[in-house]
Amino acid sequence: MIVRDTLLLDLSYRPVKVIPWQRALCMHFVGKVEVLSAHEWHVHSVKLSYPAPAVVRLLRRQVTRPLHVRFSRENVYLRDNHKCQYCGVRCGPRELTLDHVVPRSGGGKTTWKNVVTACVACNRKKGRDSPEQAGMRLRAVPQKPAWLAPRLLNLGEEQVPPVWRDWLH
Ligand SMILES: [Zn+2]
Repeated sequence: MIVRDTLLLDLSYRPVKVIPWQRALCMHFVGKVEVLSAHEWHVHSVKLSYPAPAVVRLLRRQVTRPLHVRFSRENVYLRDNHKCQYCGVRCGPRELTLDHVVPRSGGGKTTWKNVVTACVACNRKKGRDSPEQAGMRLRAVPQKPAWLAPRLLNLGEEQVPPVWRDWLH
């Protein structure tokens, strides 16, 4: 499947949503958006031919809420690439758990920065300890993901048009 749609960015270059290219072109014609990059194919009218807009940016501030990544078990697994953040093993969702880096009993919160993917064995080994207490090391500092585009757009990674990639982080 070739994605022919257009990625819409807000004034601050943050992805807002994906819209049909026809709509993007109309918005461009009425001066609402600027085209930042184009698809490789062209749109033909009777007399003219335009490159199809791939990424457009709103020229005015609008009350749009940029896409943000909801905190959820599944999205933590996705952020961590389904890999245990202690031993690095990649597992299916059934063998994965969520681990509070600073345990809840120690005041650790359930947030992007304190929750990581852990395999059952590592989670059990760590128990209610902090990583230091358990002698375990995180492979990466957990962060809130800026953008999980393919997932949010219901597209496979390979379906995301290459011209979008620059804007998805
Ligand atoms: Zn592990």
